[in-house]
Amino acid sequence: MKKIISLLIIFIANFSFAQKKVAITFDDLPSQQMKFDDCVYITDNLLKILKDNNLPIIGFVNAGKTDIEYQQDKRIAQLKKWIAAGYDLGNHTYAHSDIGKVGLQAYEEDVIKGEPLVIKLMEEAGKKMKYYRHPFLYTGKTVEQKDSLDKFLKERGYTIAPVTLDNSDWMFNSCYYSAKAKDNKTLADSIVASYLEYMNLTFDFFENLSQEFLGRQVNHVLLVHSNMINADHFDKIINMLKSRGYEFISLDEALTDTAYTLPDAQMKWGRSWIHRWMKAKGLTLKSDPNEPKWIVELYTEIAKSGKKNEDY
Ligand SMILES: [Zn+2]
Repeated sequence: MKKIISLLIIFIANFSFAQKKVAITFDDLPSQQMKFDDCVYITDNLLKILKDNNLPIIGFVNAGKTDIEYQQDKRIAQLKKWIAAGYDLGNHTYAHSDIGKVGLQAYEEDVIKGEPLVIKLMEEAGKKMKYYRHPFLYTGKTVEQKDSLDKFLKERGYTIAPVTLDNSDWMFNSCYYSAKAKDNKTLADSIVASYLEYMNLTFDFFENLSQEFLGRQVNHVLLVHSNMINADHFDKIINMLKSRGYEFISLDEALTDTAYTLPDAQMKWGRSWIHRWMKAKGLTLKSDPNEPKWIVELYTEIAKSGKKNEDY
């Protein structure tokens, strides 16, 4: 009898966990790190982890990151590896423009400039480019600018790729890349431990927010970057998501959740779509989990020295 009860408990626990679903999306392809050797290393390592785990991910491309003299074909070849692995690609602008800085017209030109490469790669695989991801998750500086951009993207046939599980993996990556470059394994290990702890808190935070706002778990969308820390450690994030009870789904499937038909309010800087839905309903917003102080300080130091070696 005891055995039956414990089996029943396991069954119920798994059943309730199975409600959680997440689509994983990678930004800034081919890679945040711009050195060619890093780009190849990141591409190969990430794809190995993703293929080993059979995850239905999607990648968002900055075509400008391939537009480098003498290396253009070799860098485009890195994107072709994602296509060959069966993954879809979307547009993330050519130059990762900041709409708040460049203005609507220049931003729209950057969207258009990012298109030909992604369209070509997708067409070669018999697919049609569909998704757009805003750099910095920045959808417009004002309500008017956001409305104009929304209209522009719709007219060009895009589906916007929203994010619910937003985070600062790029900040940990900068610190990690710098530690790795200096062969400081102790520091690199501490940064990874801190990254995993922070991501766990981030998942807690947005799961709670979804529960409070929707009364259930939305089909989550995770944003992470094609970068060094994920190339070396993304398998640990996958295991974390698995142990939290997540099922991995495609972005197409995630967006069948009716929550994604809710109005998303204009917000100056990138934040989770759950915050945007809450703002549209006039609700008070909460702060996202902070990165640890020592990581912020380390990142600031690296950024000041101009050695970030990335463009997120
Ligand atoms: Zn980006």
